[in-house]
Amino acid sequence: MLRAMTAPVAHVLVVEDEAAIAETVLYALRSEGYAASHCLLGGEALQRLQDGGIDLLVLDVGLPDLGGFEVCRRLRALPGAVAQLPVIFLTARNDELDRVLGLELGADDYMTKPFSPRELVARVRARLRRVPAPVIATPGPAEDGGWRETGAFAIDREGRRIRFQGQPLELTRYEYALLDALLQRPGAILSRAQLMDRGWDSSADSADRTVDTHVKTLRAKLRAAGASDEPIRTHRGVGYALQV
Ligand code: CA
Repeated sequence: MLRAMTAPVAHVLVVEDEAAIAETVLYALRSEGYAASHCLLGGEALQRLQDGGIDLLVLDVGLPDLGGFEVCRRLRALPGAVAQLPVIFLTARNDELDRVLGLELGADDYMTKPFSPRELVARVRARLRRVPAPVIATPGPAEDGGWRETGAFAIDREGRRIRFQGQPLELTRYEYALLDALLQRPGAILSRAQLMDRGWDSSADSADRTVDTHVKTLRAKLRAAGASDEPIRTHRGVGYALQV
């Protein structure tokens, strides 16, 4: 699973029905050395994604055919490693943003329009740095090698998997990132900003809410996996800590 140092140029697919926005984004990506393709519609994008070779998806929420949420949902349900593709949503309104945060869509980041193309490219770069292996080369059920146990938890960072009391947890990228950060320092109180910093890039003003939202869903999944106690403790006004 080691990535060769001479990684090919990352390829970003931009799905956006407003030509002016798409052109600006494509230009910004290409001038930073990325390969970039464009789809106007969601259906077209899903086809393109299945053809392979895409490393990251920039996805407009308001598309005239399927809509970005539906595209993301269908992407996550695709067979194979493409389902894990990093997705950055472009949202036009607050209610769209609420849905990005509230639904379990597995988005990795979002930008609210109007946004700075430079900022978007910075987030694309940050996100691609976190992709652990070439998307196409990620095997399905990986070998059982890299598990590391901490209390009732076991984490396989290479395979980006976490088990609780022996049970695999089905985590979104956010939830995985949060739990990974907490597992790196069991017992330590991590502020929301610290958790945000480890997990994803986003504007600071929504950090608290985003972290809280995902801690909530993470707790529900731990309860479903049999946690009788609350493993993620809230330290009011400070942050969260993992009790193992
Ligand atoms: Ca649109």
